[in-house]
Amino acid sequence: MRTAAIIAAGGRGERLGAGKPKQLLSVGGRTILERSVEVFARCPGVDEIVVVVPPDLVSDVSLLLTGCPVPLAVVAGGPRRQDSVANGFAAVDGRADLVVVHDAARPFASAALVAATIGAAAESGAALAALPSSDTVKFARDAEPPVVERTIPRERVYLAQTPQAFRADVLRAALAAAVPGETATDEAALAERAGFPVRLVPGEPTNIKITTAADFESARTMIERESGPPRIRVGTGYDLHRLVEGRPLILGGVTVPFTHGLAGHSDADVLAHAVTDALLGAAALGDIGRFFPDTDPRWKDADSLAMLAFAAERVRAEGYVIANVDAVIIAERPKLLPHVPAIRQRLADTLGVPVGDVSVKGKTNEGVDAMGRGEAMVVHAVALLTARGSS
Ligand code: MG
Repeated sequence: MRTAAIIAAGGRGERLGAGKPKQLLSVGGRTILERSVEVFARCPGVDEIVVVVPPDLVSDVSLLLTGCPVPLAVVAGGPRRQDSVANGFAAVDGRADLVVVHDAARPFASAALVAATIGAAAESGAALAALPSSDTVKFARDAEPPVVERTIPRERVYLAQTPQAFRADVLRAALAAAVPGETATDEAALAERAGFPVRLVPGEPTNIKITTAADFESARTMIERESGPPRIRVGTGYDLHRLVEGRPLILGGVTVPFTHGLAGHSDADVLAHAVTDALLGAAALGDIGRFFPDTDPRWKDADSLAMLAFAAERVRAEGYVIANVDAVIIAERPKLLPHVPAIRQRLADTLGVPVGDVSVKGKTNEGVDAMGRGEAMVVHAVALLTARGSS
């Protein structure tokens, strides 16, 4: 038995309002269309795939789907769904015995569901995946506002999904029997009208059709659940600089008025250095000295926020998201509290995170040791990174 799959992606998905055809929106790094095609590419017994898209998307989608392990063609759809499926069917290899049609907007159908639907169609001529209704179904009179005409026995109500599969001769006859000027919302309706029995195969509640922005959010949640809990990575950073006369005191990019400043090759921003090390450490990228050696004249009096921005860029390039940063500055003087809001804002802007994800605290050393005597300042920092998927 030769089986062809037609993936119907002919619509524009205007209901989603995303300014892009919905089949080309990405969830979890791949478009909805790629995910739907993959279900069939992985399904044993599917010999070819024909993807039907709006005419202007044929070349883009062909490019997107290169590398599909199953022979695949991309063809232009028509004005109505049945026209698109007819165009897809025309592109199917003439030797196909069975044709399975699927909505591109249902990327969560399982391979088992596809196989069951194909198997049922092989026996009965036509079959579709459908879910029994768990809600009571009311049939309304054609009036405004709508009024119930009657209640339909729920036990006999099924909600149609795709895949829908057909023997090739059944689909040919069903498409030929379509009434011009009438739009069928699925292929099974055409087969029914042409008088073919259409078997129901138990559908899957997770086989949702992505139509609205809310559906898109549900899809995102489902994919995140599939890819498991986020990886979390913590990093710690530490730095010390001596306090000397004749230098500005720069903490987190903010110049704090004080009699002394921090000594160092760069601008000696002890806070920026500790946070930079915490970020690099969380991603196991080494430390600040690896990227900005203090023997390099390029970093003389350098703006340490540029180093911090570089570190944030690097951890993002590794696929991480910065969850939060916390730092404690150990300094006997000056009073840091009045400067903390400005410092947090500068750090947050540099890291590209909301200010609520950045915490900075000042602490004295109770007069004890070098920090207590005002000879040096120390910063301890931690950074938390998250990422999706396995490393
Ligand atoms: Mg330093």
